[in-house]
Parts: sequence; structure tokens; C-alpha cells
Amino acid sequence: MYNTRIDFLIFYEAMCYCPSNTPFNECCEPFIIGSKRPTTAEQLMRSRYSAYCTKNAEYIRATYIASEQHNHSVEDILAFADIAQFIKLEIIATGDTSDGSYVEFKATYIADNKVCLLHEKSLFVKESEHWKYADGTIYPTPDVKVGRNDECPCGSGKKYKKCHSN
Ligand SMILES: [Zn+2]
Ligand SMILES: [Zn+2]
Repeated sequence: MYNTRIDFLIFYEAMCYCPSNTPFNECCEPFIIGSKRPTTAEQLMRSRYSAYCTKNAEYIRATYIASEQHNHSVEDILAFADIAQFIKLEIIATGDTSDGSYVEFKATYIADNKVCLLHEKSLFVKESEHWKYADGTIYPTPDVKVGRNDECPCGSGKKYKKCHSN
């Protein structure tokens, strides 16, 4: 299917962060650069995750509901995106309520030599026909320390110090 290992790596590298098994430029990137709009709450949620992975703070801010945007500066979002290295996203459940649509997910990231799990049930609503993130309920999950010689939590099989440690 692929002629060389290089081809394979390029193909692999381009897969979306969210992770959908679809190339980034056919999945979340069109939403992040504004050439397409998410048609479901889950698409918006996935694209916001991918925007954290690519440090696109403007998009993350712009996809909060209008009344929340002043609580989230681009600087604060960027500061978090800079320290948090997202390594995994699992969608647990999606559904509709009278308030909007929800997406329950688990996002795993590494920050400050700890593995952190953000387990959240997010609420999304439509504003002017476009999906926006309203708020979320967080299920607290303890952080787990990572030792330099431990296997990296990203699943690469390498030691943490040779992989996601910074
Ligand atoms: Zn995606
Ligand atoms: Zn790693």
C-alpha cells in the first residue's frame, strides 16, 4: 500500500489528533481554520481537543458561548496548551437534553511530570446556528506522577525521559 517507510510515516503523521483515523486536513483542521463548521456537538468537541493539541487558542476561545468568552483569554488558553501535552481522547457518551447536546469524554494529558485525566461531561448549545461550548461537569480524577525511567504514558513504548518529558 505504501512504497516506503517514509510514505507511511508521513501518512501516519497527518492523522487527526481527535483521533478519528481520518487525516487532520479532512477532520478537525477545516473547523479550526474556519473553512467548515461543525454540524454536531461531538465534532465541535473533537475540534476543540485538536485545537489544544495544535495550540490554536483563538479557536478555543471563539468556540465558547459568547457569555463565557470574557472568562477565557487567549493568553490563558495558550499557557495551558503549552504545558499540557494531550496524548489521548476517548468519547464516552453523547446525547441531547432540553438544554443542548452533551459529550462526555476522557482527555489524557501530561503536564509537570504527571499524567492528568480530564473526565468531563460538556454541554454544547447552538448560538446563531453554530455549535458552541457552554460549560461542563468535571469528574475529579487524581493525577499520577511519571518517573523519568517509566514507560511513557503516550504508549510509544519509549521511556518517558526519551519521549514526552520536557
Ligand atoms: Zn479530528
Ligand atoms: Zn510519549
